[in-house]
Amino acid sequence: MRILVLEDEHIIATSLKIGLEQESYAVDLAFDGDEGLHLASTEEYDLILMDRLLPGMDGIEIVKQLREQKIHTPILMLTAKGQIVDRVEGLDFGADDYLVKPFAFEELLARIRALIRRPKEGDRITLSFEDLSLDTTTYEVKRAGKKIKLSNKEFALLEFLLRHPNQIISKEKIRSHVWNYDADILPNTIEVYIRFLRNKIDKPFKDRPALIHTERGFGYKVGLGE
Ligand code: CA
Repeated sequence: MRILVLEDEHIIATSLKIGLEQESYAVDLAFDGDEGLHLASTEEYDLILMDRLLPGMDGIEIVKQLREQKIHTPILMLTAKGQIVDRVEGLDFGADDYLVKPFAFEELLARIRALIRRPKEGDRITLSFEDLSLDTTTYEVKRAGKKIKLSNKEFALLEFLLRHPNQIISKEKIRSHVWNYDADILPNTIEVYIRFLRNKIDKPFKDRPALIHTERGFGYKVGLGE
């Protein structure tokens, strides 16, 4: 899942990026309104985390323009204490939620999960396919009841595939949701990560059907094959 962080205070922006990357999100940063609007309207994000007050174009104007362009990426707005009017205004123009600064990082993560993953029952959401399951809150991955340890990127890739079971997902789509804008990604990077996943999810379970499939020339899917 890929997030655009739009925040003009570099120290806050950078610490948000580091924190979110540790939680397996791919993160792009923008430091002013115009750059933010440009990235938000040309790249694919799963969420935009946006400061209300920005140099260039301000947060509410960006929300307005994105919604006018029919871009419905969930937007979580950060506002300073006491800007109640701004908050209401932001929600009126199409932001999905807001958080008052300063906030606890855990609170931010919970809000992000709620917007991206839209859990219906409680805070926890588990994605599963056949005997494979992935818990987006605890990061636990299991197959046939056995725990599987994944790296951050492996987890992010598996999560993205598991959100679209039985669908072939193109490499381009994977790249834009699992890696950030300036990630050093080589032509075979996704292939390599798919291999890592197979080695952990399919290979050790030889008596069970393979779940990760390559559609040559198109992309990859989690499914039961033909
Ligand atoms: Ca600001």
